[in-house]
Amino acid sequence: MIDCIFCKIVKKIIPAKILFESENSIAFPDISPTAPTHILFIPKKHIESLDKLSIDDEKIIGKLMIEISEFARSQSLEKNGYRIVNNMGKDAGQTVFHIHFHLLAGREFNWPPG
Ligand code: 5GP
Ligand code: ZN
Repeated sequence: MIDCIFCKIVKKIIPAKILFESENSIAFPDISPTAPTHILFIPKKHIESLDKLSIDDEKIIGKLMIEISEFARSQSLEKNGYRIVNNMGKDAGQTVFHIHFHLLAGREFNWPPG
């Protein structure tokens, strides 16, 4: 996707501090953090949103969830807990249309979310 910011980060055209990378996905800090730890996990494949997933993406997204879990444990984030967020579409506040999962940690989070 030529005009996708996150595809450009995957291709290293736009710089980001890569915190994790596999053949499946990458993770980098959110440019505008909302928690002491705020990391974005994205598949390398351009998928617009959760709504656009198909059964072909089963392995990609399944692996991504395990990668998030393993990364969180490598940082001992499971001790106090963390939140994974996916925003889909306008009402949820999605601003970048390459599917991504926010890993938020380092403070307490409200429920229900705002
Ligand atoms: P969304 O609102 O779509 O769920 O989340 C998009 C996130 O991407 C936002 O939290 C925003 O701060 C972050 N973001 C937008 N552009 C960039 C960028 O160029 N680099 C990084 N690291 N994060 C970005
Ligand atoms: Zn993309």
